[in-house]
Amino acid sequence: MKIIGLTGGIGSGKSTVSAYLSENAGLMIIDADRIAHEITEPGNETLVKIEEVFGSDIIRDDGTLDRRGLAGIVFSSEEKKTILEEITHKAIREEIDRLLKKAFAANEPAVIIDAPLLLESGLHTICDIVWAVGAEKEVRVKRAAARDGITEDEIRARMARQMSDEERAQHADEIIDNSGDKETLYRQIERLIQKYV
Ligand code: ADP
Repeated sequence: MKIIGLTGGIGSGKSTVSAYLSENAGLMIIDADRIAHEITEPGNETLVKIEEVFGSDIIRDDGTLDRRGLAGIVFSSEEKKTILEEITHKAIREEIDRLLKKAFAANEPAVIIDAPLLLESGLHTICDIVWAVGAEKEVRVKRAAARDGITEDEIRARMARQMSDEERAQHADEIIDNSGDKETLYRQIERLIQKYV
């Protein structure tokens, strides 16, 4: 079973690629962002650990995590950010391992680990192949602003805090260039499926 890491910055089209791989190629997708969210939902032991470290103030009355409050805390402390990442990365990794085992048992030919922070979190080290989606900067800005309904400047600010397409390309085995239309994107994906799956 091939483990394929899929990454890309905001507005690159990573979600579009992931959806195509799932819907048109029938590949199993492990969505790291979704896992990150799920492990901090009420009833999960990761949320209990976070509460132990950061205090009950970051738990709302309804038992859910005050994500904004927690983001504020780690934004102002590098040390606390590291502690939070240690807790969450370990839990995410365990869930990914569980899903990989499941995919293996189901004889999946390949599985996609869809993770915006694939390289930053080190998840690429468990992948056989890394695909990075990129597009011209202003194309990414316009698409992400339209999708999220926020200003282009806000998208540019978020992009500035992320790894650049060029950096991602250095660590990737394949670059998917999404500066063109969706048909051009889908053709590239088909080629990669032929090559790797
Ligand atoms: P990401 O997950 O990388 O942030 P998305 O896949 O959500 O990016 O793409 C951002 C927006 O751009 C979405 O609204 C998507 O439908 C649109 N989009 C993606 N690729 C193209 C393309 N080749 N042409 C036009 N719009 C696109």
